Amino acid sequence: MSYHVNEKGYYGEFGGAYIPEMLYPNVEELRQQYLKITAEPSFQEEFDALLKDYVGRPTPLYFAERLSAKYNTKIYLKREDLCHTGAHKVNNTIGQILLAKRLGKTRIIAETGAGQHGVATATVCALMGLQCIVYMGEIDIERQAPNVARMKMLGAEVRPALSGSRTLKDATNEAIRDWINNPVDTYYIIGSVVGPHPYPDMVARFQSVISKEIKEQLLEKEGKENPDYVIACVGGGSNAAGAYYHFLDDESVNIIAVEAAGLGVDSGESAATSALGKVGVIHGSKTLLMQSLDGQITEPYSISAGLDYPGVGPMHANLFATGRAEFISITDEQAMNWGLKLSQMEGLIPAIESAHAFAVLDQKQFKPTDVVVINLSGRGDKDLNTYIDYFKL
Ligand SMILES: *Cc1c(COP(=O)(O)O)cnc(C)c1O
Repeated sequence: MSYHVNEKGYYGEFGGAYIPEMLYPNVEELRQQYLKITAEPSFQEEFDALLKDYVGRPTPLYFAERLSAKYNTKIYLKREDLCHTGAHKVNNTIGQILLAKRLGKTRIIAETGAGQHGVATATVCALMGLQCIVYMGEIDIERQAPNVARMKMLGAEVRPALSGSRTLKDATNEAIRDWINNPVDTYYIIGSVVGPHPYPDMVARFQSVISKEIKEQLLEKEGKENPDYVIACVGGGSNAAGAYYHFLDDESVNIIAVEAAGLGVDSGESAATSALGKVGVIHGSKTLLMQSLDGQITEPYSISAGLDYPGVGPMHANLFATGRAEFISITDEQAMNWGLKLSQMEGLIPAIESAHAFAVLDQKQFKPTDVVVINLSGRGDKDLNTYIDYFKL
């Protein structure tokens, strides 16, 4: 059994492309071209060179000595926090901007919630000299002023989404509307392993550099390519997809996915999609989705903006449904405490999203000989104000 996408765009029963007819030409062009273009040697060369010299890859695999001693197991951290712009998201935007250029597109659009994907997109548009328009909910624009300023400084136009709850979902609707109206010159960069096929597979492939490097680095450090456990937080699921990718079909590697429980799985204020979700369609993909009894999407909640999403990518829905991955929900409080703990035990201030992944260490018992890799998806600079308010620093 394979946990990768099939030729129809499905992971088990999840995935596909549930899109309005008006969007079909754009998505179909991408579906027909993405594997061909990304397999070209010139594409690979340019992608690898930018990841190396611009993003700063390979990111280190760091043996966390104090953490390992305390939990009596071997803990390695994959340092995506050291990527340019502070998180893994840029691996994907570099890949998609190179694809957009080869498709002859001159105008780039994106949606963003907290602004991290918007910044990663604005960054690569500046790098390539392409026009960049980022849709962002009006509420999010108010809440995320530093990222709005970053995008503007990078030359992007930030367009407010004024409808609905004026957050990520509404920004996504605006971006889709824009794409329908500008099918010829515009490319839509999606920020996670979500959306209609081929986006989930394409984004997973661009992020798969994470597990490719983990294999090489573990071989050097441990004399074997595979860890016993790989752990990552899941919002839409792109850093997790990248960290799992080359281990998916090797069942000797245990996969742990960490979701945001917010104020508690049963509190009504969470983003624990696997625990609470039912099968539904969101942003063009059939997946697990938090919804009311009559199928309306539930507003999610997490203290970390990157995990505050009511769905999960179709790859992860399938990993959950098949039992290939173990899903664990972590509350705001557990994650915030780990933000402080990792800072003081290893000198690493994590993004709050990433801090969720570390809380697994308190939930599961590992053997002293186990090799446990935790994906440190991003650094905590962007979250400093949240940490300040929470801990009264
Ligand atoms: C955006 C973000 C996430 C969540 O997105 P995924 O697609 O699930 O990876 C996690 N960590 C950081 C640091 C982020 O910026």
